[in-house]
Amino acid sequence: MWRTVGHDTAVSLLQRSLRGDRLSHAYLFVGPPHVGKRTLALELAQAVNCLDSERPCGQCSQCLRIAKNQHPDVQIVALIPQEEGVRERMRTEIAIDQVREIQRVASLKPFEGKNRVFIFDGAERLSEEAANCLLKTLEEPPDHVLLILLTSREESLLPTLKSRCQRIEFRPLSVERVAKELEARYSVDHARAQELARQSEGCLGWALAALSDPSVLEERLKRLEGIASVVQGSLEERFAYAAELATLHTRDREAVQEELRLMAGLYRDILLIIQGAEDFTTIGGFSTLSPTIRTLLDVETSSQGITSSIKAIQRTSSYLDQNANPRLALEDLMLTLL
Ligand SMILES: [Zn+2]
Repeated sequence: MWRTVGHDTAVSLLQRSLRGDRLSHAYLFVGPPHVGKRTLALELAQAVNCLDSERPCGQCSQCLRIAKNQHPDVQIVALIPQEEGVRERMRTEIAIDQVREIQRVASLKPFEGKNRVFIFDGAERLSEEAANCLLKTLEEPPDHVLLILLTSREESLLPTLKSRCQRIEFRPLSVERVAKELEARYSVDHARAQELARQSEGCLGWALAALSDPSVLEERLKRLEGIASVVQGSLEERFAYAAELATLHTRDREAVQEELRLMAGLYRDILLIIQGAEDFTTIGGFSTLSPTIRTLLDVETSSQGITSSIKAIQRTSSYLDQNANPRLALEDLMLTLL
């Protein structure tokens, strides 16, 4: 029984392939963060190792070990901290040595289960040489190996890498669906479920994270307020912010893209409020807005201006993907924004 919420097309495709023994050796799951890619990837890992006839059963020793992240043949590949040294720094890329190690392990027979599964969580963070190295495995995948690449930013992946995977897209769930799940499975009261669902932008995983850790909501609001205050600030402040993001970009490209996504979302919410569609915003209605964000709304009153700001943000995001000079691209954005 598949427990993934929503994504019915993806689930039934995998189900059919599994029954017909036509699973691909490599999948690319594309969709926004926390939308459910990792959950379904783990369920697929269970399905190809499950001992029951109705796969994945969720109950057998294989399924249970995978759910607890204790299965020797199922590995999640993500960023790892650099070797312990004086400075605890996170790596910003999935490095070639990680991929080489996977290739070594992949060539071995499964240790305990029927298939070895490697889940690349954040495949956009594969360094170029790591991605090229992984290509070899994708071209000639060993038997009993399933690779699942997860990404929220498909455009950052090498085209050759993408072309060797079967692509499955994950779209955000509806606000109603997220709210319903929160109420039914997690006993969240109606009003709070609605509120979290709205802010989650259709990503159940985000709503669950926010449910178990209130700092997720606080952090999001703080960042939105920071953005609102910068765009209302002087040119000097805007440029200082651009410089800050450009520096961040050298260490963590994805963090900058995330900031731009948040920024575009803020403008979109303002547009919705102006157009009287408060119910569809992630930041809530006008009456509940924090003062900094509300002032932004006082300034931004032309729908056309806001739309061109959103377009400018999206353009900057794709320039950064194409390796434009981050400082120049971000400064240009700061000049263009309303
Ligand atoms: Zn099972």
